[in-house]
Amino acid sequence: MKWQGRRKSSNVTDARRPSATGGRKVAAGGGLGLVIALVVFLLTGNPGALIGDLGTQEAILPPGNRQIEYQATQREQQLFDYASVVLADIEDTWNTILSRESINYIEPELTLYSGVVQSGCGLADSGVGPFYCPADHSIYLDLSFYDTLIDRFGAQRGDFGMAYVIAHEAGHHVQTLMGVTGQLDRLRSQVADGRLTQEAFNRYSVRFELQADYLAGVVARYMAQRGYLDPGDLEEALSAAASVGDDHIQRQTQGYVNPDSFNHGTSAQRERWFMMGYDTGDLSLWDTFNVPI
Ligand SMILES: [Zn+2]
Repeated sequence: MKWQGRRKSSNVTDARRPSATGGRKVAAGGGLGLVIALVVFLLTGNPGALIGDLGTQEAILPPGNRQIEYQATQREQQLFDYASVVLADIEDTWNTILSRESINYIEPELTLYSGVVQSGCGLADSGVGPFYCPADHSIYLDLSFYDTLIDRFGAQRGDFGMAYVIAHEAGHHVQTLMGVTGQLDRLRSQVADGRLTQEAFNRYSVRFELQADYLAGVVARYMAQRGYLDPGDLEEALSAAASVGDDHIQRQTQGYVNPDSFNHGTSAQRERWFMMGYDTGDLSLWDTFNVPI
């Protein structure tokens, strides 16, 4: 992606912390992973496997009010700047498209952190993977996920996989502004009081997540139209989308596939809906809930 010298978003918060000695050790509650799984939207299809068990770990936080500057490597700073440019493109995309629909786009925040972060949805560690918190309209991303995507999930090497990741989370922000997230929340509450089975809810969750993939494709289309994509970028996004498909992750982590527990869609579905968004370039085909997926 052509990103150097381009506009960086001003909605990026640097919450990276040095893991310096002298940091304050905080033992987190054992049920934390579950809380986070319920209130945030994750990128991957198997949050249970990804959520760090903070109950058995200690997170390092810097002491009290002291500001310790994060010493980023050159590569980390490049990724930081890259993410800031991607967010600027996301803002431009949705400001343009939603103004056509007379919808005021409230720009999301992007909080880049390292290790552990206090989000509006609770304390999270990077084991949860990238997520969006509707309560504070922020995308949370540990930049080390770039390596995780390639080394652990098997995505193709290249920068545009991360653009897909950020655009997917920003898709959850659009869903929140458009009221789709609220509808999913109501369905989730029906599981809690027994009116809806978990399996039935999972099927809604898949459609919800595929919609975020569609919205990521819309952003990629916007970037392509402005000449920002390099050859191979689209393939990198598709490879990233496929790498976080439920079937791929389940095969990798448990050796077999259980479609009833899918909550993000298969690799093929995620690629397909990303490309649908890319080919369409607007919201005209974004309804993933009333069509075969
Ligand atoms: Zn998601």
